[in-house]
Amino acid sequence: MEFFDYGIIGGGPAGYTAGILLAKQGHSVVLFEKDKLGGTCLNRGCIPTKSLLHSSDLYAEVMQALQKGEFEGNISFDFAKVAEKKDKTVEKIRKSLELAVKNSGVKTVYAEACVVDKNKIKAAQEEYNVGKIILATGSKPREIKGLEYDKEFILSSDDVLNLQKLPKSVLIVGSGAIGIEWARIFSNFGVEVVIVEMAEHLIPVADTEVSKRVERIFKQKKIKFFLNNSIDNICNKTVTLKTGEILTPDFILCAVGREPVCPSCQKDAVLGDACGEIQLAHYAIHQAKEFALQIPYDKNLIPSVIYGEPEIAWVGMREQDCDDSYNITMLPITALGKAWCDDATDGFIKLITKDNLIYGAHIVSKEASSLIHILLTAIQNKLPAEDLKKLCFAHPTYAEGIFDILLKL
Ligand SMILES: Cc1cc2nc3c(=O)[nH]c(=O)nc-3n(C[C@H](O)[C@H](O)[C@H](O)COP(=O)(O)OP(=O)(O)OC[C@H]3O[C@@H](n4cnc5c(N)ncnc54)[C@H](O)[C@@H]3O)c2cc1C
Repeated sequence: MEFFDYGIIGGGPAGYTAGILLAKQGHSVVLFEKDKLGGTCLNRGCIPTKSLLHSSDLYAEVMQALQKGEFEGNISFDFAKVAEKKDKTVEKIRKSLELAVKNSGVKTVYAEACVVDKNKIKAAQEEYNVGKIILATGSKPREIKGLEYDKEFILSSDDVLNLQKLPKSVLIVGSGAIGIEWARIFSNFGVEVVIVEMAEHLIPVADTEVSKRVERIFKQKKIKFFLNNSIDNICNKTVTLKTGEILTPDFILCAVGREPVCPSCQKDAVLGDACGEIQLAHYAIHQAKEFALQIPYDKNLIPSVIYGEPEIAWVGMREQDCDDSYNITMLPITALGKAWCDDATDGFIKLITKDNLIYGAHIVSKEASSLIHILLTAIQNKLPAEDLKKLCFAHPTYAEGIFDILLKL
């Protein structure tokens, strides 16, 4: 029986990153994947949704230009083609990933694996002797009582990616990253969207001011939402909310989080979503880097991004976490010339500072997903605001907003 230094179960971001990095250091690695390499992120998460998002943004922007009279003519879209483009994008990336894993020397076994003992993994009737076992088995959509997935009226985030045609209306349960992202995709394509959220505000994990701004933007965009609410009952596809409202969506997308898939067995490490901590692809990758290369990370400085319209990103402390000794500074996105050129003036940059250092950053803006890294670099390296002011920011950019807000500190 062949011996491998490491046996990794799960070929998502956590598993393949750990595998490639360990193999590059000269270790022998066997990686087990029961489905497709790339895991949730590539096949059912980050990547397919961003492809749909891009197509929906293109359509919405052209529609806006038509409404304003800047463009003329009739446009329409073929959602089956949009879905096909998403599938091709995923496939292309998967092929590159498969090649990268193969070239790194990792042996991939496509089969469901289980741990036999602390040095043995079994998959497809074969046993593999391994020095160490890493579980990177990911997570699955959380199901709640009364909203069991049926692939027809109550869909999970996996099911909704298989749509070949768009509904007229959708009810989204939950306003976390997945719910907000789908609200953007659907509403861009003209689908009527209603969100129901149990918490007091949309995106309950965000800084409350961010949540409130998103609520304001949703109202402007006529995306309906119900807060402090939930589904009371469903009868013949008619949904009654706890507060009595009656809704008749074409289907429900239930996006109430994900639960870790973590078999209880002997293991040397658990990486990624399977840990049930921060369920983000970059966190899974970071954990794998820490494991393989001993690069430490600060769990409090993992950036969060929500792909709403506009994007929402934050890192570090939120205002509700601070006492009075911290300063709050805001810059409206209307301050930026680039935002006016792009018709994207909704939003703000918010900094939480103390003694010339940044402790928290919150951005609601186009390009927030990239901008947040400038502030993450500053927070992680404890760069004083005075030093950051010495940076020259190109014009016209959204990054200039960071320079402008630093001048307000
Ligand atoms: C709709 C959606 C959008 C998302 N968007 C983003 C985003 O924009 N940014 C972001 O950072 N995160 C996003 N995420 C979250 C991200 O996808 C996950 O955090 C990430 O995939 C976790 O990586 P992982 O390797 O821990 O697990 P996974 O990617 O879930 O991989 C686990 C793998 O293990 C395999 N496996 C499980 N058990 C076994 C077994 N017994 N034998 C063999 N194989 C097994 C599974 O088949 C799977 O391929 C999104 C998620 C969803 C659902």
